[in-house]
Amino acid sequence: MDCPDCGLPMLEPGPQSNRHCCYRCGRVAATGETADDITIRERIRQEAFVLLDYAMALRGGCRRRTPREDLRMGQLIQTRGCGRCGGTMYRTVETDDEGNPTGESQFVCAACGHVE
Ligand SMILES: [Zn+2]
Ligand SMILES: [Zn+2]
Repeated sequence: MDCPDCGLPMLEPGPQSNRHCCYRCGRVAATGETADDITIRERIRQEAFVLLDYAMALRGGCRRRTPREDLRMGQLIQTRGCGRCGGTMYRTVETDDEGNPTGESQFVCAACGHVE
């Protein structure tokens, strides 16, 4: 398949993943997905990278900026292992003023783009 953004042939799925991958822009796609599917997945994947940055900052690595600036008040980050590639999945949880969860996004794997 071709990357809908770059128009280049995407790399074939490897043993670690069943996703096609664009080596130029990093978009990933499952076999038979439409350009819209790929674009939506890419948007989720980019959001996952923002969450990844945030989680790394929380671990104390980078103090150049305050990670909370990137998140609205009332959002938490949850992580878990990816069932597909073993990477780390992230999701945001909306909370009310008391910190009670009011809504959750899907888990997204920062490594392979898998959504659960
Ligand atoms: Zn591409
Ligand atoms: Zn994964």
